[in-house]
Amino acid sequence: SFRAIRVTKDEQGHRVETVTLEENDLHEGDVTVAVDYSTVNYKDGLALAHGKGIVRTYPLVPGIDFAGTVESSTHASFAPGDKVVLNGYGVGEGHDGGFAQKARVSGDWLVPLPAGLSTRQAAAIGTAGYTAMLSVLALEDAGLTPGSGDVLVTGAAGGVGSVAVALLARLGHRVLASTGRPAEAEYLRALGAAEIVDRAELSTPGRPLGKERWAAAVDSVGSHTLVNVLAGTRYGGTVTACGLAQGVDLPGTVLPFILRGVTLVGIDSVQAPMERRIRAYERLARDLDPALLERMTTVIGLDEVPGIAERILAGQVRGRTVVDVNA
Ligand code: NAP
Repeated sequence: SFRAIRVTKDEQGHRVETVTLEENDLHEGDVTVAVDYSTVNYKDGLALAHGKGIVRTYPLVPGIDFAGTVESSTHASFAPGDKVVLNGYGVGEGHDGGFAQKARVSGDWLVPLPAGLSTRQAAAIGTAGYTAMLSVLALEDAGLTPGSGDVLVTGAAGGVGSVAVALLARLGHRVLASTGRPAEAEYLRALGAAEIVDRAELSTPGRPLGKERWAAAVDSVGSHTLVNVLAGTRYGGTVTACGLAQGVDLPGTVLPFILRGVTLVGIDSVQAPMERRIRAYERLARDLDPALLERMTTVIGLDEVPGIAERILAGQVRGRTVVDVNA
């Protein structure tokens, strides 16, 4: 038997509980993993707080990420002892996830742990960090090179934002970090930000086209922020959109697209094809400074997960939160 966090639904509604489970209580899969670490992403905050739009089946072990060691497998690609990492694929949404000491999933969803990364580091990266890398890859595919001009990161002190700042700075870009938390300015400069932008400048309705301020941007905030980011993007620039921390709306105009040739690229991590995941992890192993990854990471135990979930939705969590499920 092993410990897990589970969400259930009864007459009183959605509830979070800590339970002891047996392997056969978990959803089916051809690989069983002894989990070392899970993580808390914004989406996990939603799954724990109310489940709306995220939890597709009850009861469910939430947790969209985990890293650990294969315990048993009937999948051709995995054998006991293999180190693996999982991000997304509906795990922690429609299939039991990472907030447990064991996970049972399809081997098709597992990425072999890249050489040079520990399970703790892979968890510290998590969906947020791997999505930041997918965003950087998209900017590079669109032609961004060091010297192209400033790159803006919104929600910079959050999980996606922190990893994006560290990666872009390490790759030689001049990074503008937008945050609503002035107290985190020093933290963001330590990650490599050259300039701090007050998020209040971006989060309220602005002009359809503004001064051309950045060559590219990584946005995890959406809503007015993304609209203003597009309006401030230089001629021919590229913006990636992966998140909705401010809102799911996009209350803007087409002017940045039709007058400045700006490109908006959507980023999805959940169903991203395996070859793109492997490419992202290879680049993370190479381009993310381990000391900076450590600096942005806080480790908690399983019992502390519900409390952090509330705080992440309130925008109060800095960087990445790793869950030591065996603590
Ligand atoms: P996070 O750690 O909570 O970071 C979000 C950050 O957004 C916060 O730290 C805050 O940054 C900023 N923010 C929060 N509320 C805001 C508001 N009302 N207005 C403006 N800014 C606000 O969350 P995360 O795990 O990095 O995820 C970030 C977003 O990306 C979420 O919406 C998540 O669902 C999405 N996401 C999507 C994918 C995908 O596959 N598309 C993958 C991963 C994440 P500051 O305090 O620095 O301002």
